[in-house]
Amino acid sequence: MTAQAFAPQWPAALGARPAGERLERVRRSPHFVDGAFRNPVPTSRATDGALRLMLRQVREAAGLRRPAGEIPLVWRTASDYADGPESGLRATWLGHATVLVEIDGRRVLFDPVWSTRCSPSAAFGPARLHALPLRFTELPYLDAVVISHDHYDHLDMATVKALARRDTQFAVPLGLGAHLARWGVPEERITELDWHETTEIAGLEFTATPARHYCNRGARVLGTVLWASWVVAGAQHRVFHSGDTGYFPGFVDIGDAYGPFDLTMIQTGAYGDAWPEVHLNPEEAVQAHLDLTGAVMLPIHWGTFDLAPHPWHAPVERALAEAARRGARVVVPKPGEFVEPELKRDPEDWWRALAPAKEACAARRDVDTPPAEPEVEPELVAP
Ligand code: ZN
Ligand code: ZN
Repeated sequence: MTAQAFAPQWPAALGARPAGERLERVRRSPHFVDGAFRNPVPTSRATDGALRLMLRQVREAAGLRRPAGEIPLVWRTASDYADGPESGLRATWLGHATVLVEIDGRRVLFDPVWSTRCSPSAAFGPARLHALPLRFTELPYLDAVVISHDHYDHLDMATVKALARRDTQFAVPLGLGAHLARWGVPEERITELDWHETTEIAGLEFTATPARHYCNRGARVLGTVLWASWVVAGAQHRVFHSGDTGYFPGFVDIGDAYGPFDLTMIQTGAYGDAWPEVHLNPEEAVQAHLDLTGAVMLPIHWGTFDLAPHPWHAPVERALAEAARRGARVVVPKPGEFVEPELKRDPEDWWRALAPAKEACAARRDVDTPPAEPEVEPELVAP
């Protein structure tokens, strides 16, 4: 590892601590207690014996954490978005928690991450298992960008810097705007919300709703940045994006207050027995979807980055099994494949051909080495 791998990107990637009026708003929040934002219910980031549990799961999932072949993509260009969806609502899952949603004539991009790695460095950290199916330069006009929290797999400095050069509004949780401002987003294009606050952008209503998680971009900002799930509502349609969250009873309240939802995008992967309170497992993801009164669930936060010791395909297999048992509708698109909930056209089970098998992995020598770097926009990996 050379020194160049760390500099000069690292300090800027850590973001900035809220200050001035931004910090005052943080302090006035009812969720900010004794110097830090608190979860809606008591929450531990890791259980007792977390290390032992983690090591056991790492052993069990050895050789199963990556797909057995190349992940198929449905490539998109800006022209695919020239005509809006017939039904008024369409989602394109671009990988992990990044979703482009066309809703009632507007376009909203959630948790955009175009970098190769979700890490403070372009040289190390979890690397993508597939490229984005939409080049950054092919992104159509966006009415709004929504960020759930400041973890690297949801808030990507290179992507924010590139978005700062476009004319788009950002809706983010309290305190998070400090990161955006440091990276060049003008203050007038940043709206920070506390849980249950709503703002209007381009005729859509954006509401930050509670989530059971945490933020920790760096020691300097610890406790002063809020995390959230999001509701976006137009004249005809409503969608929910979970960000990262553990299970908690608040999903029922969000469903009551802001549902029913035509589409829920719910964190389904990166769960672990060592951190059960801050990430949903697949069965809990389906439960959250039902609590929220969602019509169709799109599992997110799986497949793209290897962040947790579970088999690559387990999030969607388990979610689909639970959905069948509970009578829920879950759709698993390829990255780039359109999901238009009202058309009731279910994607095929493309991931099954890629299900990793222990025997196959034992024969593959490269199982623990990162895959070849996918192609990303050069300006997004430059410091
Ligand atoms: Zn997170
Ligand atoms: Zn995450």
